[in-house]
Amino acid sequence: MSDIDPHRIDRRSARVISLQQLNSLPPSQFVASLAGVFERTPWVAERVAAARPFRSHLHLHQAMCAAVEQAGIDEQLALIRAHPELSGRTRMRGELTPESAREQQGAGLAACTPEEFTRLQQLNAAYTQRFGFPFVLAVKGHNRASVIAALERRVGNTVEHERAVALREIGRIAEFRLAELVDEPLGPRILAMAEELARLSDRADGLTCSYLTPAHRATAALLREWMVDAGLEVEVDAVGNVIGRWRDAAASARTLVTGSHYDTVIDAGKFDGRLGVLLPIAVVARLRGAGVRLPYTLTIVAFAEEEGVRFKSTFLGSRALAGRFDPAVLDSVDADGITMRQAMVAAGLDPAAIPKAGLDPRTLLGFAEVHIEQGPVLLNEAVPLGIVTSIAGSTRCFVSITGLAGHAGTVPMHLRHDAAAAAAEVVLAIEKRCGDTPGLVGTVGQLQVPMGAVNVIPGRCELSVDIRADNDAVRDAAFASVVAESARIAARRQVEIQWRKVLEVACVPCAPKMQQLWADSIGRTTGNAEVRRLPSGAGHDAMVMGQITAMGMLFVRCGNGGISHHPSETLSAEDADVAAHAFQDFLLNFPVSP
Ligand SMILES: [Zn+2]
Repeated sequence: MSDIDPHRIDRRSARVISLQQLNSLPPSQFVASLAGVFERTPWVAERVAAARPFRSHLHLHQAMCAAVEQAGIDEQLALIRAHPELSGRTRMRGELTPESAREQQGAGLAACTPEEFTRLQQLNAAYTQRFGFPFVLAVKGHNRASVIAALERRVGNTVEHERAVALREIGRIAEFRLAELVDEPLGPRILAMAEELARLSDRADGLTCSYLTPAHRATAALLREWMVDAGLEVEVDAVGNVIGRWRDAAASARTLVTGSHYDTVIDAGKFDGRLGVLLPIAVVARLRGAGVRLPYTLTIVAFAEEEGVRFKSTFLGSRALAGRFDPAVLDSVDADGITMRQAMVAAGLDPAAIPKAGLDPRTLLGFAEVHIEQGPVLLNEAVPLGIVTSIAGSTRCFVSITGLAGHAGTVPMHLRHDAAAAAAEVVLAIEKRCGDTPGLVGTVGQLQVPMGAVNVIPGRCELSVDIRADNDAVRDAAFASVVAESARIAARRQVEIQWRKVLEVACVPCAPKMQQLWADSIGRTTGNAEVRRLPSGAGHDAMVMGQITAMGMLFVRCGNGGISHHPSETLSAEDADVAAHAFQDFLLNFPVSP
């Protein structure tokens, strides 16, 4: 396939059409849309057009088969004769319909040995002479040997019996073709896959899938299986990323990467991360089934680690793929004293190969991540999809306040240096400062009085501070003013306050080009040109991938108040389906030239 010019492949040469469209098209277009289903025989579709609407592609299939059954013998024979000989002269002359060419190739008939070819030719000749029509077989699931065996068996049938067998095979071929042509909702399929993955957990209660545990490895194995089923070339890299490639463009074609993480937090929801792996697998399976070819290579990555639960080190999967993996983290230990290096070797991974896992940025077209929103914004505005404008940067600190401990009963209020009371003022100052700017958020998630007792004035208080914004200058200004305010509070109360910054991550803007492509796809999919754009307050693999290529993210509405990182995280099948359509549109329209 390497000599195909990517710009000349018609991505829509094999179209997928929805049942709703089929039910509403004018009869002539309905017939044209189904032209490939019964080989060169439009009357089958013509005779069922008036029986619309159909409830499913199977319902439509039943009606079409009934029309064939009710037709006269001459029409039935003409239908059988419209089929090509298997591996016969039609193939040699390149006159097969695209459907037949694909099916014959799938059964390996394009690669017959000379002996097999001769045997097929002999049997075909005997068959055609006996019955007066070509041998028809639904080759899906067959290989060359089983095709030849079927031909040997059927050549001995009576003419009448063989005509019925041929029509039955034609019905099966039509069923396969309709299943590939008619676009059924993918939402339920995506949800079912997420449910199945969620059964693989480190703990019996709820879903926990930490890096390289048995459940994590079983999850990787299942994802690998699904990628293989979708027709992808799959490999597992040195950190455990499961990588599936759909490669049918030229060898020199560049790659669009999509994906998200399959590890989870403790007692997690089923969709965080996983949606961004399962949705692309489902869409690719459908597109490949429909015979679509992309003019670029598409790579789906299930990132092995993003959450940092087991080794307190985040984004291990995307860091490896982006060539940004810090080898020092290999020596970090989990709660049982196992080093990351030991865990990797035990899982059959090769830590020494991590530097080679990095992608070459020159080969990339971009990175697109689909992710559940993990917040209530889309839900509150009743919008299923949103475009991420940037991934917020964050500043994370631990703050220690030292006052003076004392007896809760004997020290008068005006003589106290209460560390917890000072901390309470700091918490409120952060809330006030971060509440006055859109896109800015501040959180005190941990607040402790170490060794505190019910009858002791707190002498020390410790708190965590997490400030995020979609604009680094806004975050820096907020941080500076919170620190200054805390100094004033400390001075007034005569306590000591110390700030220790443990993390500072710059905000990562999504590429304008990727945002526009998502906007176009959402517009075409939902029919609504006004697209909701929002920053992501949470970090994602796209942040890391954005360091080596143009990055963009699609957010899908999170149900249930927007709760995430929790078992009550939900996603509706309808929203998964709309997202799948938008993603499919995104793939079909993704430009290969810069
Ligand atoms: Zn996530």
